[in-house]
Amino acid sequence: MSTNLYCTKNDCFKENKKLGSVEYLIVHSPAVYPVIIRAQSGAGGGWYKRWNKPGVEKLVHGFIDDTGVYNFAPFTMSCWHIGNGWGNAHCIGYELCELETAAEFDRVWDNAVAHYAALCKQFGLTADKVIGHYEAHKKGIASNHSDPEPYFRRFGKSMTDFRAAVQTRLSGQANDKPAPAVTKTYNPWAHGTVCNLTPGDTLNVRTKPDADAARASIWPELGAGNEVDVIEAYENGWVKINIQGTIAYVNATYLKITGQATAEPAGYTEWAGMASGLGGSRLNVRTGPGTGHGLLSACSKLGEGNMVSVIGESGGWYQVRISNPTIGTHIGWVSKNYIKEV
Ligand SMILES: [Zn+2]
Repeated sequence: MSTNLYCTKNDCFKENKKLGSVEYLIVHSPAVYPVIIRAQSGAGGGWYKRWNKPGVEKLVHGFIDDTGVYNFAPFTMSCWHIGNGWGNAHCIGYELCELETAAEFDRVWDNAVAHYAALCKQFGLTADKVIGHYEAHKKGIASNHSDPEPYFRRFGKSMTDFRAAVQTRLSGQANDKPAPAVTKTYNPWAHGTVCNLTPGDTLNVRTKPDADAARASIWPELGAGNEVDVIEAYENGWVKINIQGTIAYVNATYLKITGQATAEPAGYTEWAGMASGLGGSRLNVRTGPGTGHGLLSACSKLGEGNMVSVIGESGGWYQVRISNPTIGTHIGWVSKNYIKEV
């Protein structure tokens, strides 16, 4: 997903030179850190405002920041971004905005990986054709700049990592990476509170214990002070969590793990159950054991015959795990009256 924000007043845009065959996809960063500038906001009103005016001759096909991808020029246009005639005529280039925090960088990285993977598909290129400006210089097709390496290095990443992430996205293997080893299982689950975030920042919630995995669709991020259940910890510093019934993963650096969650009773032997005896109506799935708890947003109802795993109980309520390829895995509570063992 990207937004067209064409720089129609920019000199290079007005010149409208035609792009030839696309041979490389160039990754840039503007190298202005610690000045923080996004596509449409920040110092000077943002990159769009800075570049969309007469007298500016440089141009890229767009900027990527933590809010999305912004196309400054169409792919039919040769943009002046690597200071070499052949390079500009045969390369597409985007600038990755240099932001401050690790969470912001994560989102820029995510947006960029997804976009470069889409560009690879669109132009029939492999991930090894995605190169940094400094690598294009080494190939003799670009001016002598070091970007985006200093920006990536600030967050422990490199162009090699970026290509690997693009390749993973291209081969659809983001979900097939071997899972990291479990180092601790919380039984019962522990209680986690989101902490250590830069003020105003949020914690990315992912579908796998891996910074390159997609963000969870129902709870893509958490704020400081948000509370979750912690299920297990991995060797790579990530943890599996339960957020009001949704199973997801976060980096444990940003969780204060204390005591014991009340969610899952210890020592309960899981069994298979089926929704039954509903008489044509549907069974409410709640976030806790009682009608005072709200409906589970990701999966609020079960139909007659739907299967669940019963993983705990409290009073007249069963705690159930509901797994379904469409909605994923969720944990909720249902009345004991309508679940029978199968
Ligand atoms: Zn550059």
